[in-house]
Amino acid sequence: MYNSSAAFSSSNTQYKNRLFVYEVEGLSSDSNGNSFNVPIRNSGTVFITVPYSRMNQEMRRINNLGGKVISIQPVGNDVPAQTSQPAPQQKAASNNKKSMTQAEPKKAKKKVPVNIYRPKNPYVGKCTEIYDLVAEGGVGTCRHMTFDLSGGDLHYVEGQSIGIIPPGEDEKGKPHKLRLYSIASTRHGDNLEDTTVSLCVRKLEYEDPETGEQVEGVCSSFLCNLNPGDDVSITGPVGKEMLLPDDEDANVIMIATGTGIAPFRAYLWRMFLEGDKNPDYNYTGKAWLFFGIPKTANILYKDQLEEMVSKNDNFRMDYAISREQQNPEGGRMYIQHRIAEHADELWEMMQNPKTHTYICGLKGMEGGIDEALSAAAAKHDVNWDEYRKAMKKEHRWHVETY
Ligand code: FAD
Repeated sequence: MYNSSAAFSSSNTQYKNRLFVYEVEGLSSDSNGNSFNVPIRNSGTVFITVPYSRMNQEMRRINNLGGKVISIQPVGNDVPAQTSQPAPQQKAASNNKKSMTQAEPKKAKKKVPVNIYRPKNPYVGKCTEIYDLVAEGGVGTCRHMTFDLSGGDLHYVEGQSIGIIPPGEDEKGKPHKLRLYSIASTRHGDNLEDTTVSLCVRKLEYEDPETGEQVEGVCSSFLCNLNPGDDVSITGPVGKEMLLPDDEDANVIMIATGTGIAPFRAYLWRMFLEGDKNPDYNYTGKAWLFFGIPKTANILYKDQLEEMVSKNDNFRMDYAISREQQNPEGGRMYIQHRIAEHADELWEMMQNPKTHTYICGLKGMEGGIDEALSAAAAKHDVNWDEYRKAMKKEHRWHVETY
């Protein structure tokens, strides 16, 4: 049995507020039927996050359940230098050059293209296709559109964005600045020939709070009003925050509101629809999409998403339809309520170093999600803010909101 107290003596105050991950093998239920409800990996081990203050208690509990702790690692990469002698198993773990949370050594990252086209010299591509994504009775206008890239060198990977420069000038007589849009297609494009890029754009429409006048956003209106054959100035690609991990067995939690679905469309198409095109990427992890929209008619890409769920056991999807579904308090069902409903299961998934969480869409959606996950973490005496920061450092927590 691994001796935690030797490795992290209580006199070492540097560790007082820290979290540790136990890798445990041989877990079963105790005589009372209690068990650690954590996903068991193919290797037969599980990961359990433990706050410093409960290390001994958890160790006893694992013992009672017949488990054996095979390694203990501090969470996060900025761990203070250890003052006591590391236990032999810990030395072995560090010799294996594993990351501090048991994450496997990273494969060499493939090069991510950035800024192939800049605003001074954008790529001009033609719109090849544009169609409505909001069904009758839905709120607002949102369109899927595709641009031809065959005349240049613009290429990208899933999770990146491109810039669009709308034609014309702003109120100061200067050319309009570019606006960013998440790429909604995979690197192979909707035509699977690596020569197109697609977007999912909501037309910004609002009432001016001072004049009461109806205002339309410059770039989103330009894009939503395009016709096939029209020219569009494109820059980029940009962005490394929302890249999909290379690991085929990564678990991917996706939390989207509205057009926040765009990068997830790219992920899901790559995972489940483009098998033959990606001989080096055969997705075997678990993907779970949470999608917040106001009405059923606003479920973007509804048919394809639902077909994907029906055909793939490792893809799960939960909607939060605010104007049609109720939360447990009887109010509108927003994304944070759906997250709260599944928070314990999500927390468990996040214990696995192969789980990545992505949030994309409306600015401000993170607060409610944090609240829901805080409650789940608190059940294990873990401070969610610290845990989320640790995941961010490990590149397992990705947020793009606008
Ligand atoms: P503008 O003409 O620039 O008007 C926007 C301005 O209008 C705001 O700055 C604000 O001053 C004002 N305004 C807006 N709403 C109100 C209101 N209710 N009351 C008063 N004033 C208001 N959008 C998508 O549709 N799809 C995407 O996939 C997408 N991806 C993005 C990815 C990233 C990384 C980022 C940063 C943004 C993304 N956006 C996306 C948003 C997009 O970049 C634009 O911001 C959006 O389309 C609006 O641009 P616009 O030119 O139409 O609006």
